[in-house]
Amino acid sequence: MYKRFSLSTLAAIVLNATFLSALISCSVNPVTGKQELAWVDENWERKIGEQHYSHQQQAGGGPYTIDPDLTLYVRSVGKKLAQYSKRSHLPYDFIVLNDSRPNAWALPGGKIAINRGLLVSLKDEAELAAVLAHEIVHADARHSAQSQELGSMISVGQLAATVLLSNSGYNNKALQQGIAYTGLYGQTRYSRSRELEADLYGMQYMSAAGYNPEAAVSLQKTFVELSKGRQSDAFSALFASHPPSQSRVAANEQTAWSLKRGGDRGKIRYQQEMKKLMDRKPAYDLSDKAKKAIGDKKYAEAIKLAEKAIKMEPKESEFYEVKGAAQIKLNRSSDALKSLDQAIALNNQYYSPILRRGILRYELRSYESAERDLQASLLLAPTQIAYIKLGEIAEEKDLCADANKYYQLAAKASPQNQQSLQQKLLALQARCR
Ligand SMILES: [Zn+2]
Repeated sequence: MYKRFSLSTLAAIVLNATFLSALISCSVNPVTGKQELAWVDENWERKIGEQHYSHQQQAGGGPYTIDPDLTLYVRSVGKKLAQYSKRSHLPYDFIVLNDSRPNAWALPGGKIAINRGLLVSLKDEAELAAVLAHEIVHADARHSAQSQELGSMISVGQLAATVLLSNSGYNNKALQQGIAYTGLYGQTRYSRSRELEADLYGMQYMSAAGYNPEAAVSLQKTFVELSKGRQSDAFSALFASHPPSQSRVAANEQTAWSLKRGGDRGKIRYQQEMKKLMDRKPAYDLSDKAKKAIGDKKYAEAIKLAEKAIKMEPKESEFYEVKGAAQIKLNRSSDALKSLDQAIALNNQYYSPILRRGILRYELRSYESAERDLQASLLLAPTQIAYIKLGEIAEEKDLCADANKYYQLAAKASPQNQQSLQQKLLALQARCR
């Protein structure tokens, strides 16, 4: 996902010299106390964090809305730790995302997310604290801001980077390719030294907040084991951004020795707080299987799996969306519409079912309602496919200027499909002369 530093990015940098020169200065790292070349100032960090937080959440499955108490709990643990960070005045926030893949990330300025898939893999509250404190350091020590390569930093202001929102064939190809999204902070890959730094200071914050820092050792041991075993696939995103290693285990053991003995592990409390999520886990497993079945073109099986998941948890929007996605594949349009209606009724704060229904309505030539859905999805996540479909609807209505505007926006939204968009624009020019 990274954009390599190249001549064209260099040209872009020169063009943005005024923008950047304001940001480059020599300063002391707030966490390590080391002198470093700082690319960014705190206002920039805050601004970038604010700008990308909600889009990044959408790209990661959306907020976990079915159980707001879970997010409140995670947030309370995070805020407790953030008090002990060196820049405790940063606008820290913590959110749980509706994604089975175990992962966590931090944006500049202290915006931190953890997937429900990681929460179910942790043993106690101290391990949760270890994850959150580690991410806090990435924000606090400006890792999230500074590890951005020049190219991707430019992209924040200028170019649109592409993140594919699906890890399976659950989304059809057009949707998968078309879903682009501006920003790539969730995919940050940190260097070895920054990982060690995040562990070290994270354990200090944990200890200061009353947690047993040994949890960072046990957690790292678990990750090293998982990275060797069969489960490494599921953890691939987490391990790509935060590679586990025996040397991190050893370093964390050393740090734990140097810190105050003891502290809270909060095992029973954690299990109580996770009970509802654990109860729902079998339903999410079925839903994940259904997504895989769609990828394998086993649509009838996918519908059965989604229906089983719905029986277990009738309030989870995602399960209806999965069912609807499979029904679309079987050309059962009116059933699919009903499923997507239910998905959106249960959660209208996640772009994916809204976009999916917009595309289906477009295909059914219900242009007015398709437009409403596509626009609503864009408010949540700026996807290329939504702009393209809006352009096509404008063309159907002979609104040349609107079509032109939407295709331009589509071309800006993602580097993909540039050729076909240029063709659309040329054809439009010829037609609307
Ligand atoms: Zn990390």
